[in-house]
Amino acid sequence: MKDQVVLRFAPSPTGPLHIGGVRTALYGHFLAQKYKGRYILRIEDTDRTRLVPGAEEYIINSLQWMGIEFTEGVHKEGPVGPYRQSDRKAEGIYQKYVDQLLASGHAYYAFDTPEELDDMRQRLKEAGSSNLQYNYITRGQMRNSLTLDETEVRRLLASGTPHVVRMKMPKREEIRFHDEIRGWVVFHSSQLDDKILLKSDGMPTYHMAVVVDDHLMGVSHILRGEEWLSSTPLHVLLYRSLGWENEIPTFIHLPLILNPNGKGKMSKRQGDKLGFSVFPTQWIDPESGAVSSGYREDGYLREALTNFLALLGWSPGNNEEVMSEDRMIELFSTESLNNSASKFDLDKLKWFNETYIRNHKPEDLLPLVQAEYEKAGMEIGNPDFLVKVIELLQERVTLLPDFVHLGSYFFSAPVSYDEKMARKRWTHEGSELMGLLSKKLENLSTWEAHEIQQVFEQLIEEKNVGKGKVLAPLRLALTGVAGGPGVFDIAALIGKEATLHRIEKAISELIPQK
Ligand code: GLU
Repeated sequence: MKDQVVLRFAPSPTGPLHIGGVRTALYGHFLAQKYKGRYILRIEDTDRTRLVPGAEEYIINSLQWMGIEFTEGVHKEGPVGPYRQSDRKAEGIYQKYVDQLLASGHAYYAFDTPEELDDMRQRLKEAGSSNLQYNYITRGQMRNSLTLDETEVRRLLASGTPHVVRMKMPKREEIRFHDEIRGWVVFHSSQLDDKILLKSDGMPTYHMAVVVDDHLMGVSHILRGEEWLSSTPLHVLLYRSLGWENEIPTFIHLPLILNPNGKGKMSKRQGDKLGFSVFPTQWIDPESGAVSSGYREDGYLREALTNFLALLGWSPGNNEEVMSEDRMIELFSTESLNNSASKFDLDKLKWFNETYIRNHKPEDLLPLVQAEYEKAGMEIGNPDFLVKVIELLQERVTLLPDFVHLGSYFFSAPVSYDEKMARKRWTHEGSELMGLLSKKLENLSTWEAHEIQQVFEQLIEEKNVGKGKVLAPLRLALTGVAGGPGVFDIAALIGKEATLHRIEKAISELIPQK
């Protein structure tokens, strides 16, 4: 590792943050924490046509929810700001370097109109070429500062003719760079086109801005998705052309996350079809108003999502799975990143969520569960009571809203009874036994689960009946459903009055079968 580790997460505010981006941000967080480095949140908004209102705020908030902290960034002042590229452009930061490239002959002005560019492609197509790029071959026939004479170029610039600045790709050069995951990667400059560096609106493109900013911000490690691998040779050439060859950051291109069926990059379309979200938190499309739910709203704990995402592309080399954040930071290394794509496995994520819910103290889950009840419009009353409900249910839930779905009977008597269970278990005998149980319970002066159980045991002994004959109708009377925590625990928690009332209610409402 380099002396000073400086990482950045550099999203474009073109929409909500995808879960793949969250994983990239998370790995950056791990490395920054591990090496006590700086971690920058930079907003790359130079493509003004693709800006989506609210996206930047969404990105900041969802990273915050994930507990991914930055030492500096667009939301937090720091030594190398501003941290939004449009603000950096306004300060004239990029122009200087574009001018430098023009002066050194690494870049050139291009005045071609959209029609002229179309014509070029058309000509190439007609000539049977499959490569329709503006590159070292075609640039010789276009209207740019390489083909026009100097006075003409000066005249065009002075008269404000729309133009861009393009990279002058070397004709035949091998561009090699090292990637932490892939090892040495080689591209040939002849495969690359003369990418635009400065657009006609005066904005730098992503390529120009990313190189200048990573350099000026002292970034030591570029961690990003594999989709940027093919842009890296251009970036490497830019570093070289700007005289920064010895300061090229370490590249780490993370393999893709695939859909659960292993086919294609994890996508919202597949997610909608198969029932998984691709967003960390809920996103409301500003144009259509369409709501896409996120993992937070679906009831996942951020620690579970973090642990799951951490292992989606990284393995610590032992069999550890459930790990605290500190442990992950301790074990994390770029050498142990996977070099092939990972399949998104929703069942695994659910398993992590269940595990984290079980491992938490009920008190710690209280605010989250309380919020779920509020969302469902249910009064929860005393929080101590809810803590006890959580304790009884936490072994049984997968997602936070399950606390509401599985636990409503703690707050009110059942309004309906599970039909199948009622048909099978609410017999004449069962109903009678409930009457007898109720009488015995009435005599209890204190109300603890073990006392209720004692009364139940007396009854089954006296009547010489199997446990289930009493337990099943009692459960049905108290909860209305077939499964759940221990029925004596439920009775103890809801209290004597509610227990007796519910037994009475069931006796009067349920028609005994057989
Ligand atoms: N702005 C790019 C994105 O949206 C960042 C790519 C990079 O990290 O260099 O993904």
